[in-house]
Amino acid sequence: MSLGPDLIARITAQGPISVAEFMAQALLHPTKGYYVTRDPLGAGGDFTTAPEISQMFGELVGLSLAQAWLDQGAPAPFVLAELGPGRGTLMADILRATAGVPGFAQVAQVALVEASPVLRDAQAEALAGHSPLWVDTVDALPPGPLFVVANEFFDALPVRQFQRAGDAWRERSVGVSEGALTFGWSPVGPQPALAHRIEDTAEGDIVEHCPMATAIAHQLGARIAQDGGAALIIDYGDWRSLGDTLQAVRDHAPVNPLEAPGAADLTTHVDFEALAQAAAPASHTRLTPQGVFLERLGITDRARALAAKLEAGPLEAHIAAHRRLTHPAEMGNLFKVLGIYPGAAAPPPGLLP
Ligand code: SAH
Repeated sequence: MSLGPDLIARITAQGPISVAEFMAQALLHPTKGYYVTRDPLGAGGDFTTAPEISQMFGELVGLSLAQAWLDQGAPAPFVLAELGPGRGTLMADILRATAGVPGFAQVAQVALVEASPVLRDAQAEALAGHSPLWVDTVDALPPGPLFVVANEFFDALPVRQFQRAGDAWRERSVGVSEGALTFGWSPVGPQPALAHRIEDTAEGDIVEHCPMATAIAHQLGARIAQDGGAALIIDYGDWRSLGDTLQAVRDHAPVNPLEAPGAADLTTHVDFEALAQAAAPASHTRLTPQGVFLERLGITDRARALAAKLEAGPLEAHIAAHRRLTHPAEMGNLFKVLGIYPGAAAPPPGLLP
């Protein structure tokens, strides 16, 4: 059942593939891809995410989006979208927290960009009563002002990896040696898309380029600049990435990315500079640590209000969840938030221009 033997046969017959093609196959192969065959966030899953850690995350993201919608004159109708909604928990928390904002949740056309049939089923259950619309790609979202969130979505998109060689680059590939998958390198050649990385890299450095991420950021920015709206992009990464950040996780522990394609999650760090630039003509906010973003939106007050109704084990779990989302030594600093918004509007609350 594993995808490994399929990839070994294909590479043996046709030659090495790029890291991006390897990621695309491992995550979304139509019958054996990681996201196609399982719910990685469920009981006994491989990893967890901010919305699964605490309802406070989705509540505050929802209120930021709803305030951005009010700041833009409460346009109606509008599209409330999520990219890679996982189990639907974040969108369910957004809709519950914004139910009291007159006209917001009632008017919203909920739209979900999701590739996994298993996760679409989980989302349908979590969002029963909200009639979500599923689409395969961002360009298939319905028209109109677009308020959208993406949490741990961009890190799952296939990246190409390049190593500096003089003023040119060699691309990292996946080949086969002695019957097993192994990393290798393509011949050195020019890479116009990496011209801006010549100034900040040295011989032998590795940089990553995610063509799908920049294409999606461009589609979001063009939509938001033209029709209004805002995007909150939340993920691990930094303003400009450097080095090999490909990682595989299985059962909450790191594994070799080539070891079990289709059975382990694969991610890379997000290059937020590339997303911000691709989102033009829309404006982008400063890249903001998740902990700072949530504090500005009032997570401490919300945590206190929820704590008042809890005791013993559930209270301890709630305090730990608050710390996990915000503390710099946990997710608070590793995860960053980038907002995209129309130049003439205010940035989404929690973020600065
Ligand atoms: N946002 C959720 C889940 C993160 S996991 C959370 O925070 O809990 C990544 C999500 O992106 C999954 O729902 C996965 O199926 C989806 N995904 C990954 N690659 C995708 C692609 N190319 N197109 C659409 N959805 C994708």
